[in-house]
This record gives sequence, structure tokens and C-alpha cells, in this order.
Amino acid sequence: MHTLLLLLLLLAAGAAGSFLVWRYRTVLIRHWREPVLRDPVVIIESDDWGPGPSEQAERLAAIGETLSRYQDASGRYPVMTVGLVLAVPDAAAIRHGDFAHYQRRTLADSRDAELLTTLRDGVRRGVLALQLHGLEHLWPPAFMKLARQDGAVRRWLESDDAATETLPPAVQSRWIDGSTLPSPPLSASAIQSAAREEVAAFARLFGGPPAVAVPPTFIWNAEVERAWAAAGVRFVVTPGRRNTRRNAQGQPDGVDRWIANGESGAGGVRYLVRDLYFEPTFGHQAESALAAIRERVRLGRPALLETHRFNFLGAAAVFASSRRELERLLAGLLREFPTVRFMSTEELGEAYRRGDAELFEQRWTVRMQVWLRRLGILGRLGLKT
Ligand SMILES: [Zn+2]
Repeated sequence: MHTLLLLLLLLAAGAAGSFLVWRYRTVLIRHWREPVLRDPVVIIESDDWGPGPSEQAERLAAIGETLSRYQDASGRYPVMTVGLVLAVPDAAAIRHGDFAHYQRRTLADSRDAELLTTLRDGVRRGVLALQLHGLEHLWPPAFMKLARQDGAVRRWLESDDAATETLPPAVQSRWIDGSTLPSPPLSASAIQSAAREEVAAFARLFGGPPAVAVPPTFIWNAEVERAWAAAGVRFVVTPGRRNTRRNAQGQPDGVDRWIANGESGAGGVRYLVRDLYFEPTFGHQAESALAAIRERVRLGRPALLETHRFNFLGAAAVFASSRRELERLLAGLLREFPTVRFMSTEELGEAYRRGDAELFEQRWTVRMQVWLRRLGILGRLGLKT
């Protein structure tokens, strides 16, 4: 080929490459900065436990017993985090007051004494780790506005069903006003006092503020992070992006930032990304969870598996089937990844915060390899994350 033509082609390729690097520089830098785990880290993250169904204590104790039959190389048990809802609407009291005022039933109620004992016991044995999901799985003023109308919330209150999972999805969001769509934001002062109140309620029950918070329905904003941080929360579990509202159709919307593990948010909170799912009642099996974990390991990322209490409540057969799938997952995990590390989300967050040299890869050649793998999957994610 003519030398001049070759030179021109190289220059054109170089210019196109430079343009791409410049265009996607934020994404490239984020994926480079995110630390690379040396060994697999797997955490089962469960949500929605709180006042309500009486079988919760017994089922959580059985899950704890299952977890304690597996150990990593250092002798640690797998940890299931428990995202706690500290209160539910007291339907009978609200009805009695003719829907004029919000009233709650908290986890301090004597009916939930056994659940509290099981939670504390699970923490002591190293199989459960408690996280704040919210004082409520809803925003009480929005909930009450709908309770006064003839609709799904009124029917929920009349049914004596304390399971907030059965409320309309928009009502289950705590950090927006879901009574109208698209959802308007809450005022900063309302957010601050609600965050202070829920952290104090958690501290009264468990002896200190929660280290980790999980925004209900994964809709929240920077103001919530700042308020949590001021009250003592250090880590926020995210799906890898921050949805700040619901749109006219009620769907999570208004993404104002993309998130990588270990990044800092408002008020100095640190983020963790939970983007895998293990909901056996939806048909998620151990094999598909293992395949997803394999991919996280390849990318030097932790595997945080989302699950909910509904997989473990209700009919004994449902529980038995979910528990069996959990056992198959843990057995398969230890077989395929003998170097897997079990820890709580708080411990993982602390490791990111201090840049733990034992947990994270320090050799830049390996980090470069993993970075290229991370960039390799960007195409199918639309180059946003
Ligand atoms: Zn939830």
C-alpha cells in the first residue's frame, strides 16, 4: 500500500479512537476506578421484613440454621442481610379514627417480640445482618391522602392486611409523594426529619444506628442520602443508578446518576450495587443465580443477590421450595468457587472505603485486564453505566 495512504488511514483511526475515548471518558474512568475484587464475594440481600405475618420469626430462624451449615475457607457463614421495615400502618386504629390521622404499629409491639429475638440471635451467630429499609415502606402523608379516597389503599386498610407488598407500587415508595403521578418530590425538611426519626427508631431497637440503608423501591435522591449520613448511615444499597421519581405511568424514572461499587454519594455515604436476583417463587433457580455470579466474578465485582421475604412466607411448601433452592445455590457456590468470601454488606462497604489491599487487586496488569472485560459488556448496556 502507498505509504501516504497508510499514514492517512492510521491518522483517521487515531482520530476516531480519540473521539470515542473523549466522548465516553466518564464511563471509562468510572469502570477503571471501581476496585477489582481478588476473590468472589457473595451476599444474599433480603428485604421487607417487619411487623406483620406471624411466621416470620420461625422462617428466619430456619433460614439462619440453613446458612450456618455452609462456611467459606475462613470459616465464615453466608450472610443474609435483612432489610427491615420498622412499622406498618395500624389499620384498625386508622379506621377507628375515621381515616383522619396516620397511626402506626412498630416492631417494638409485643406481637413481634419473637421476631426481634430471632433477628438479634441471627446477628449474634453471624448469619443475619440488619439493614434499614425504612420506618415504613411508604410515605405516610401520601398514604393517608389515598386512604381518604375510595380506592386500593382504602380497601387495603379495610382488609386488615399488614403486608405492604400488596399496596399499589407507587404507594410503596417512601421518598416521593406517590399519591399523584408523576410524583412530586418531598421537601428537604420533611426528608430530614423522617430520616432522623427512622434512624433513631432503628437505634432504639438494635442499640445503634444502621450502617446500611436500602431505599424502598429504589427511588430516592441526594437529599435522602445527606439526611441519612447526618443521622449515622454509612452505606446505601443501590441498583446501580439513582431513580428520583415515578413518571406518569408510575414507573421508576428520573435517573440523575449512575453508580459503581465504592463510589461516594451525598453526605459521604458509600454505594454498593445490588443487581442480581434470587426470588425462587418467580422461578429463579440456583443455576441462573450461579451464572450471574460467574459474570460478576469475571468483572471483579461482588454478587449482591436481591430477594424478598415473600419467598419465605405463607404456605410451608413455598418456604420448603425456596429454602431448597437456597441450599442448592450455596452448595453450588462453594463447589465452583472454593475461594468465595462471605461477609455482610457493611463489611464489604468498609473494605471499599479503606481500599482493602487484601480484598482488592493491586496489580495494574490484572486491573487492566478486568477493565477491558468491563468495557466489553458496555455495548449491551447502552454505554450509560
Ligand atoms: Zn422493599
